[in-house]
Amino acid sequence: MAFDSLSEKLQNVFKSLRSKGLLTEEDVKTALKEVKLALLEADVNFKVVKQFVKSVQERAVGQDVMNGLNPGQMVIKIVNEELVALMGAETTEIALRPGSEITVIMMAGLQGAGKTTTTAKIAGKLKQKGRKPLLAACDIYRPAAIQQLQINGEKQGVEVFSMGDGHKPANIARAAIEHAKAKGFNTVILDTAGRLHVDEEMMQELQEIKEQVEVHQTILVVDAMTGQDAVNVAVTFNDKIGVDGVILTKLDGDTRGGAALSIRAVTGKPLLYVGMGEKLSDLEQFYPDRMANRILG
Ligand code: GDP
Repeated sequence: MAFDSLSEKLQNVFKSLRSKGLLTEEDVKTALKEVKLALLEADVNFKVVKQFVKSVQERAVGQDVMNGLNPGQMVIKIVNEELVALMGAETTEIALRPGSEITVIMMAGLQGAGKTTTTAKIAGKLKQKGRKPLLAACDIYRPAAIQQLQINGEKQGVEVFSMGDGHKPANIARAAIEHAKAKGFNTVILDTAGRLHVDEEMMQELQEIKEQVEVHQTILVVDAMTGQDAVNVAVTFNDKIGVDGVILTKLDGDTRGGAALSIRAVTGKPLLYVGMGEKLSDLEQFYPDRMANRILG
């Protein structure tokens, strides 16, 4: 489970803080050095760690803490609050247009990140919320992608719009939106093609979709198992095509979790959901406070 190792290390630091009673500035500094190491070992972005420790230190060596009844608890509270802030403080929802106005959501990401699976997971969530989603198969390169989307769409009870692999993704997107208008769907989710690495052609294709149809939300899917690479991918996609929100998959796997703690701070874009397994129900809304509690144990 992600964060197990980080949690354990932080809990050890806090245990020794709690046992100390009144804390000296030196105690706090020593503890924060250990927090810093634990975060770096969890693969949190170096600059993010530096800023985080600085913020905690500034608050923790203040008068309130030193004169407080239980300084150890106070430091833990500050670490908790700063972790929540790091992850964006508030839960961010996918922004949907009201009523029958069609919201077009474009899903983007590298091949294998979990984009097609996540696309179907999101369709299920939106359906639960009373939306009428239509999935559009715009990944025309990976032979099994269309079929995979169709199978997953069927499992979710959501229609999949496909034109096979003989049309440009932007044209498929446009036709899907027309279909949605005609049939009363109010949300169109475009499953686009990924590549193994970020490349110009992929970015151009995504840009072309955005130029030719009105995309209201661009959601990037990244794989937590790839650690800081996931953060770098998010930076590149955001620079090239503009991203509104990020979904981090495979947080159920053996990942150190650093991407979850870095993405918001590095890209300025919110984490919307986290993927917690291969099943279509394994998608959780991202709550910064719950995640911080999970990390701090
Ligand atoms: P795409 O190439 O980005 O469309 O990726 P896919 O949707 O085909 O997913 C690639 C693999 O990752 C598949 O085996 C999925 O079942 C798996 N996967 C996707 N999301 C998750 C997740 O949150 N947790 C786990 N454990 N596996 C996932």
